[in-house]
Amino acid sequence: MNSEITNDKDDLKTTQNFVEAFIAEDLREGRNDGRIHTRFPPEPNGYLHIGHAKAICLDFGMAQQYGGKCNLRFDDTNPTKEDVEYVDSIKEDIQWLGFDWENREFYASDYFGKLWDFAVDLIKRGLAYVDDQSAEEISNQKGTITQPGIESPFRSRSIDENLDLFYRMNEGEFDEASRVLRAKIDMASPNMHMRDPIIYRILKTAHHRTGDKWKVYPMYDFAHGQSDYFEGITHSLCTLEFEIHRPLYDWFIDQLKTDDYRPRQIEFNRLNLTYTVMSKRKLLELVRDGIVSGWDDPRMPTLCGLRRRGYTPESIKRFVDLIGYTKVEAINDVSLLEYAVREDLNKRTPRVFGVLNPLRVVIENYPEGKTEEVELINNPEDENQGTRKVPFCRELFIEQDDFMENPPSKFFRMTPGQEVRLKGAYIVKCTGVKKNSAGEPEEVYCTYDPETRSGGPQANRKVKGTLHWVSAQHAVDAEVRLYDRLFSDEDPSGHKDIDPREFLNPESLRVLKGCKVEPSLADVKPLEKFQFQRLGYFCADYDTMQGAPVFNRTVGLKDTWSKMNKE
Ligand code: ATP
Ligand code: MG
Repeated sequence: MNSEITNDKDDLKTTQNFVEAFIAEDLREGRNDGRIHTRFPPEPNGYLHIGHAKAICLDFGMAQQYGGKCNLRFDDTNPTKEDVEYVDSIKEDIQWLGFDWENREFYASDYFGKLWDFAVDLIKRGLAYVDDQSAEEISNQKGTITQPGIESPFRSRSIDENLDLFYRMNEGEFDEASRVLRAKIDMASPNMHMRDPIIYRILKTAHHRTGDKWKVYPMYDFAHGQSDYFEGITHSLCTLEFEIHRPLYDWFIDQLKTDDYRPRQIEFNRLNLTYTVMSKRKLLELVRDGIVSGWDDPRMPTLCGLRRRGYTPESIKRFVDLIGYTKVEAINDVSLLEYAVREDLNKRTPRVFGVLNPLRVVIENYPEGKTEEVELINNPEDENQGTRKVPFCRELFIEQDDFMENPPSKFFRMTPGQEVRLKGAYIVKCTGVKKNSAGEPEEVYCTYDPETRSGGPQANRKVKGTLHWVSAQHAVDAEVRLYDRLFSDEDPSGHKDIDPREFLNPESLRVLKGCKVEPSLADVKPLEKFQFQRLGYFCADYDTMQGAPVFNRTVGLKDTWSKMNKE
């Protein structure tokens, strides 16, 4: 890959984002011997969401683009919240997105020994001290943006006493929260993070990798940059909230580094989506309180939820590409994500017939017991997907709302006295309807014109409406789950003092049983994707069993009518 920044527009695939520009600049100036090495650093305290996909695409994408490497590093510094279940799911989701960390799977906990040594070294150099105050007292002494903080009464402890206490903290002699180790930097710094930040705390919880070995654990800020350094990371890409931590990141690196190499932290804006919450903590609450069926509930913005919903990795990457990387926080419109998945599924999915709310149609002049096979194009966007045969016979199902006995004008679907095309088969004319005791249509009658079959002499006769259908005799029963936005408010977590749950959308899941789909769908496998013509994109759910498919609606179709009539 060419590392030069070029002004020749023809050379640029897309606009270079500012992160790329920094990387290109570092390469041009020969920093870190021209190496590019990034990392994706998830904390294994929840499942990955689409926001993480944005970080993953950048971390792995930059490495790919510049011939570098990207590590997977679990930031497992808090044993009270972390779990192997999350480690496994994170790996699965990154692989699903199509990225590969090769053999570079690391854990911040791999460095607990080195971090400990570094902390001891800081103590010996007079750059760290044990503080016996509570977190609350320490926080009360922090000062404000305009006022310097107050120095801790323990700040000038002797090196020996600090060393002794720090070792004893790790031997389990002291209670949690009774003491911490702090870096001795500057209580008057204009940057609050530099006011003697806490770097180690006592936690007496077993760690999923190191067991009971440690009683003290490094804080995120103390583990993160140093782990970058230990791994030879050149570009530490993270979200904007860490911008204010950067001076501290650099301070630790300054104390640690022994030669010219140093990792560079670059911050970009988070992905936020409308009509959902994104933080792992809030997502965990939805799972724990049973508001959704699990982390992979198709309404969740998690990668496993989106996968189950029918999203493809390509559509997610395309969306990430569309929103780009900037220095400005924003909230991204979920309809752009829906656009991206529609565009992708349009190219890749076969068209099929499925009827969600079936209404029986009897073609009175069609021979009883006869079955014809009509040939249908699988995907007009892709000839290579070929055609399939669908059985047609005297009794069919159509959608309930494709029939109206007394329609308004411009209703071009099934109504007494009007002709309508059954896609791929014949033109039929509605002759009447039988209603149940509640006055609802129960069965619709019509006649067909044999000349109008696809390829027949009257096939091109003009009628205004075209319907999808399935043969009653051959149809397969299916369950269809229609998903909608989980919240009815655009920014459910953006209201002060209001729990996002106040905005839960009661219609976010509608389950339809007794749907009828064409027989080719009898043996679908979970995650197989289709366009149900005129209805939207659907994906077979994990609950699918042979002969009893369950489909999740990924997203509806836009502009279905005009599209169908052009085909
Ligand atoms: P959350 O705030 O959702 O709980 P987190 O930041 O605590 O997420 P981590 O596991 O620490 O989650 O994140 C791993 C990486 O993913 C970090 O580099 C983080 O900056 C990035 N990341 C997390 N959320 C987003 C997001 N919404 N958009 C872009 N990147 C994100
Ligand atoms: Mg985090």
